[in-house]
Amino acid sequence: MKKYDIVFVGLGAAGLFAAYELTKLKTLQRVLIIEKGRELKKRRCPIDNDKVKKCINCKSCSIMSGAGGAGAFSDGKYNITTAFGGDIKNYLGYEKSMELMRYVDGVNMDMGGSGCKKYSTAGSDIKAEALKYDLHLLDAEVRHLGTDKNYVILSNIIEYVGSSVDILYETEVTDIVRAGESCWQTVTEEEVYESSKVVIAAGRSGSAWASKICAGLGVSQRDNRVDIGVRFECPALIWDHITDKVYESKIIYRSPVTGCTCRTFCMNRHGYVVTENTNGIMTANGHSFDDPALASDNTNFALLVTHHFTEPFDDSNAYGQAIAKLTNALAGGVMVQRFGDLVANKRSTRKRISESFTRPTLEAAEPGNLALAIPKLTLDTIIEMIYQLDKLVPGTANFDNLLYGAEVKFYNSMADVDGNFETAHKGLFIIGDCSGTTHSLSQASAEGVYVARYLEKLFLEGTGIR
Ligand SMILES: Cc1cc2nc3c(=O)[nH]c(=O)nc-3n(C[C@H](O)[C@H](O)[C@H](O)COP(=O)(O)OP(=O)(O)OC[C@H]3O[C@@H](n4cnc5c(N)ncnc54)[C@H](O)[C@@H]3O)c2cc1C
Repeated sequence: MKKYDIVFVGLGAAGLFAAYELTKLKTLQRVLIIEKGRELKKRRCPIDNDKVKKCINCKSCSIMSGAGGAGAFSDGKYNITTAFGGDIKNYLGYEKSMELMRYVDGVNMDMGGSGCKKYSTAGSDIKAEALKYDLHLLDAEVRHLGTDKNYVILSNIIEYVGSSVDILYETEVTDIVRAGESCWQTVTEEEVYESSKVVIAAGRSGSAWASKICAGLGVSQRDNRVDIGVRFECPALIWDHITDKVYESKIIYRSPVTGCTCRTFCMNRHGYVVTENTNGIMTANGHSFDDPALASDNTNFALLVTHHFTEPFDDSNAYGQAIAKLTNALAGGVMVQRFGDLVANKRSTRKRISESFTRPTLEAAEPGNLALAIPKLTLDTIIEMIYQLDKLVPGTANFDNLLYGAEVKFYNSMADVDGNFETAHKGLFIIGDCSGTTHSLSQASAEGVYVARYLEKLFLEGTGIR
């Protein structure tokens, strides 16, 4: 049995920024981070390498797992806001949350991101224009790091923390056992690590596992929301006048017909649609590069409809999974359909897609009919939203624009934690996406910094070091 002061499970945004902060604070604590995925330079998705056309369900998915976590090959949209991306402000308050997100933004700039442009919705005329069509633009600042710069930043931070924390790659934590008052055992196949503090930062890919651990330890969890929709793709020229100004516009629309709320999410200007594999379930996602040489001709974003469930149903993630699985069963992965075909109730075929003016950036997607997999309530709301957006951004409802399905945002069960992200069990913390309190790079990273500072404070108080 090996001994540490703190063991982190997961080296995603939350775990990495906690490690960064402890390194910066020159902690005397012995810190271990256990990551089930590979180290950064060994992370390779076979689809990106053109080795295969479709997701082959790698044992460890390089998109979701490994150093840097799910965000490593993401578009690196660093949203500085509490209006979306998680519930951090419910724990830390607005001011503290914003201060932490700005702090992380500063670290990103120091670690290789300088020069990355920051956009803001403040003072833009888009908000007023959108309101004319009952479309509501949320306020946010967003720094677009881009997939390429994001990689550089992560490499630099990992190198920085490597001297003061131990990192184990390709090692999965299987269990966390309470071995006494403030004594935890973190179990892997090869070894057991004992520590007084354990921080679970296992992200979306580790959320089912984290939920199981919480349930086993009697940490209560709430689970009632899932967002279901599609990834929309159109020629970038259509949205350029908006994305050039604010990069990411989070627009919300409530359909008077279905009563459901639909929102734009994760906008990727001149980007690419990609497949995301969450525990074997394939869904659509998107990213783009900072380097103009790597820009595509298309812009993509998600259109998501939020579903809250009430009694007796209490497994919203199972509902989202069932829809994604149905799409996978029909298409063998992600499905693509032209908007015009969907409205005309026709299946898109390879031939129809090949005649399309909008060229798909995810060639591996199988043409099909999304109406066979996505429930009517959701799909009707999305179609209505596209027509509504077309009033603000003409061309959005063009026949050949593409819809990839399904895109599902699973909200991890919200674990019951206090204002320091500590569970009812002393010394057991849960942060980032697996805790259900965040679903963004900025808020997950901010929680990592917060917990690191808190643990250092406890340590210094305990040892008398000031
Ligand atoms: C394709 C894609 C694009 C995205 N784009 C953006 C974006 O532009 N902006 C944005 O704000 N957010 C984006 N996100 C979401 C963002 O990446 C996450 O919100 C963020 O990474 C959450 O950080 P985290 O540390 O909580 O979890 P993660 O980053 O998921 O890290 C968790 C880590 O824990 C590891 N782990 C899990 N279980 C175990 C275990 N049992 N043992 C050991 N290790 C384990 C995983 O391998 C993983 O590396 C994107 C996500 C994806 C998938």
